[in-house]
Amino acid sequence: NINELIRRCIIKLENFITQKDIDVEASFEEEDMYVKADIDSIERVLINLMHNAVKFVRQNGKIRVSTSRYRGKILVSVEDNGIGIDKNEIDLIWERFYKSDKSRSKEKGGTGLGLAIVRNIINDHSQEIWVESDVGMGTKFYFTLDKGSSSENI
Ligand code: ATP
Ligand code: MG
Repeated sequence: NINELIRRCIIKLENFITQKDIDVEASFEEEDMYVKADIDSIERVLINLMHNAVKFVRQNGKIRVSTSRYRGKILVSVEDNGIGIDKNEIDLIWERFYKSDKSRSKEKGGTGLGLAIVRNIINDHSQEIWVESDVGMGTKFYFTLDKGSSSENI
């Protein structure tokens, strides 16, 4: 159940979230949404994306994690209203050790591996991931997962 996993990830990031007084919203199209995926890997994906959102959002910023049905699959999105990513950097963020000038200059910490790991995991699942961003407005990451059923999880 991807929604349950998202709730668990929010709890794991609780410290960072309260430190920055961030408003986190979880929005699920249906109460229970099952996916066919390696749960530990997808937890890593969610943590990396949500941790980025927390890092690159301002004090009192907003993060929204949503799940919906999309082309026969489950679509997960992680959205923030933070600093955004420059158009000429957006293709580079997936590279290992890449950090934008903005995040470098602001000393946000991290090694620049988070998104490379995310992309590998999504590739291993034969799924898609993409990003939309506007500088100063925020960033939205999307990824797909195959649908599963509750019985497969028992
Ligand atoms: P690490 O994840 O290893 O701790 P990191 O967060 O800097 O370090 P990535 O998660 O791979 O590395 O992200 C790469 C770069 O992409 C970031 O340094 C930042 O410049 C940019 N980036 C990623 N997510 C966001 C976001 N939500 N908003 C703005 N910039 C982002
Ligand atoms: Mg990161």
